[in-house]
Amino acid sequence: MPSRFRCIRCGREYEPGSVFRCECGGLLEVVHDPMGWSRSVVDSRLCPMGAPYSSGVWRYKELIHPGLASNMIVTRPEGNTNVYQRRTVSEYAGVERLSMKHEGENPTGSFKDRGMTVAVSEAVRQGAKAVACASTGNTSASMAAYAAQAGLQGIVFIPDGEISYGKLSQALAYGSKVVQVPGSFDDAMRIVQEVSRDLGLYLLNSINPWRVEGQKSIVFEMLHQRGWEPPDWIVVPAGNLGNTSAFGKALSELLELGWIDRVPRIASIQAEGAAPFYKMWKSGASSLEAVKPDTVATAIKIGNPVSWEKALRVIRETDGVVDVVSDAEIMEAKAVVDASGVGCEPASAASVAGVKKLVSKGMIKPDEDVVCVLTGNLLKDSDATIGYHTGKLKDLTPKQPNAPIRVDAGSMSASLRRILGE
Ligand SMILES: *Cc1c(COP(=O)(O)O)cnc(C)c1O
Repeated sequence: MPSRFRCIRCGREYEPGSVFRCECGGLLEVVHDPMGWSRSVVDSRLCPMGAPYSSGVWRYKELIHPGLASNMIVTRPEGNTNVYQRRTVSEYAGVERLSMKHEGENPTGSFKDRGMTVAVSEAVRQGAKAVACASTGNTSASMAAYAAQAGLQGIVFIPDGEISYGKLSQALAYGSKVVQVPGSFDDAMRIVQEVSRDLGLYLLNSINPWRVEGQKSIVFEMLHQRGWEPPDWIVVPAGNLGNTSAFGKALSELLELGWIDRVPRIASIQAEGAAPFYKMWKSGASSLEAVKPDTVATAIKIGNPVSWEKALRVIRETDGVVDVVSDAEIMEAKAVVDASGVGCEPASAASVAGVKKLVSKGMIKPDEDVVCVLTGNLLKDSDATIGYHTGKLKDLTPKQPNAPIRVDAGSMSASLRRILGE
């Protein structure tokens, strides 16, 4: 049977189309037929040189979009991201075994490419002419690139003045129309849903269940790289909650297939100023109350996350936790990740800051095996990085600043000796 959409609330099923909410209001997810598919298939695809199986997404095609014809796949290819261990970072976080899976190594510099390759391919399958998204930046950068490759017109809605220049420049350069909307990401999200319905644009936000299917491959690939040996924890920054949702779905599917024998606990880390999911989880409320978001980590500056219902189920099913970190904790953790030579954008460092916090609370034990997902590339938000190192970030005194130094041309050697501490 071909893949279909199923409502996570009432179980009603639909043909995959461009409607992403059930009549009852529930979120939809993709379900595939159980199959006698084996690990040896994906093992044999590990080193092919050509598309689509050279992609760290399409290597797992049967678990992501089994029915899609090869000639419809729009792939760069993406994925195949590295895993790093750095002593300075694990000491900072307080765990012996800490690895960082660097999703900033994707083609447009964030994990968004993993969901985008699948959802844009589906747009092609449906014969869409134009695609649209609301974005805090990385979704628009990714969509613009994949739309360009597929020959589709892209239209992105961004909160005016709220996204970093690195990301905005990508969307412009790749040729999408960029519409600046007054307000926050949440306003842009509401507007894009209305406009897409009115104009028949194919919507590429993570409310689109195919995005979540593609993002499952972060977990597939991570476990594959570990010889299918699960860590104790997977720690992920949480904004719109697409990743949290995707990780849980990936883990339960692998468990069902028997490829893994236990499920790691998932920790979703929000920024203190944009933490509606944390507030809901902590209070035990049954629905999410939107907040007005404020954080230096623009990629997770979201007050009304669309996938909270899927994510809540994941936190419950994986015995997971939700926590928050301050902007200062995010930027200090980022400075450590950056200085280790790995580097990431602000939102990504929420994962490492989150580990430190959960260790200090005794929730993560120092001898547990922890994987942090670094969601985006260091170059995405150079304003925040330079602002940190020059002490110009609002309300934040950097503990590890490394500002550029001005020296007089005449006394260069003497000045340098002083700087290098000789
Ligand atoms: C989109 C994004 C996030 C947030 O991920 P969600 O799936 O929306 O929770 C975090 N970090 C970066 C760099 C992102 O681009």
